Amino acid sequence: MTLMPGPATRNASPRGWLLITNIGQLLTLGSGRLDAGPRRGDDLKELGIVSDGAVLCVGGKIVSVGTTKDALRDSWIRKHRKELTEIDCAGKVVIPGFVDSHTHPVFVSPRLVDFEKRIEGASYEQIADAGGGIRSSLEAVRNATKTTLERKLLDVLQDMAAYGATTVEAKSGYGLTVESELKSLEAIRKAASTWPGTVVPTLLGAHVVPKEFQGCSQKYVEIVCKEMIPRAARRSLARFVDVFCDKGAFTPEETEQIFAAARGHGLSVRVHVGQLSETALGPLLRFDPASFDHMDHVNDNDVRQLAKRNTVVTLVPGANYFLGLKTYPDARRFIDAGVPVALATDYNPGTSPTVSMPMTMSLACTQMKMSPAEAIAAATINGAWALHMADRKGSIEPGKDADLAVFDVEDYREIPYWFGAKRCEMTILNGVIASHH
Ligand SMILES: [Zn+2]
Repeated sequence: MTLMPGPATRNASPRGWLLITNIGQLLTLGSGRLDAGPRRGDDLKELGIVSDGAVLCVGGKIVSVGTTKDALRDSWIRKHRKELTEIDCAGKVVIPGFVDSHTHPVFVSPRLVDFEKRIEGASYEQIADAGGGIRSSLEAVRNATKTTLERKLLDVLQDMAAYGATTVEAKSGYGLTVESELKSLEAIRKAASTWPGTVVPTLLGAHVVPKEFQGCSQKYVEIVCKEMIPRAARRSLARFVDVFCDKGAFTPEETEQIFAAARGHGLSVRVHVGQLSETALGPLLRFDPASFDHMDHVNDNDVRQLAKRNTVVTLVPGANYFLGLKTYPDARRFIDAGVPVALATDYNPGTSPTVSMPMTMSLACTQMKMSPAEAIAAATINGAWALHMADRKGSIEPGKDADLAVFDVEDYREIPYWFGAKRCEMTILNGVIASHH
């Protein structure tokens, strides 16, 4: 990624005045109804498409959205045109920057042994028992310096932007000691201060019970609740607390305990749930989680409950793909029941090493039967809801952050269609241009 290269740099206005014109298809995702909550049912298909569109951004915010004809007639734009950085997007598609609401980017090395062992037929549990899985990433993170973690993370964020993401949720969770979890969150904060996009930090101290606490998980839960959460909250190092609530990880009771500690320290909660086995969601809903993530296994009663709530179900089909699973979460069941659904990469070294939201959307379309329009809304506006940021992110509307992705395609349906390809040629992150040629 290069920041502001070429002619755009020379014309760049110091005040971040940006006019994007002649957009073939501008997907605004605008509803003008911020109080309406996350998109559900048929509303998930509403993309708010403007042909020959234009967007004016000033100081990192979107100021006006409409047709190019109207923009060029606007008296303010006419008066200031020479001072504006103008980007011609003729024949291209512009969408809100993706909101990748579930990633685990703080690790050191890829897990190639897991990869090969799984191909040979080993299960998730067998790989963990053989010393692979989440635990095998721990040692490297515990030994790494903050600077190493920060550099790796910045590279990943830049890669993600090259595929169209402008907002990324980033979890800790490969340290699992107080010191290394706080170090991971500090690395996230450091990388976030350099990257022009928006990073939302999450404490995932309860990713798995570390080996030192096997057989006495309660002792580890106490450390999460009484040390990690208070210290992360005191220094504003995390916005959310996440728990991996599943067999082989944390029980629903332990999850509730951790959620109570999080809420007690003013942090919101989200949870990995239903990936390997079904968990009753009622007791967890009392903590009003921003998102339930994975959700391969869920009962009908809980689906009905979720249709009445703003808790988003975040689907991460990259994990199913990479694990070579035959089944995927039942996106249609959720959408048709009126449950709000988001899509995220679940970028992590063990089960979903992809930075690509377009690839994730492609899997959603082919494997979960979401339409291209539904996949786009799930990857933008509903991702923003899943991070409690819909007032700033996820659509191209006046007042929101200037987060846009320019794709070198004529029709938005090509974004999930050309699977595995990189068609994003530019992202605008809080008004800063990044070119990806
Ligand atoms: Zn995850």
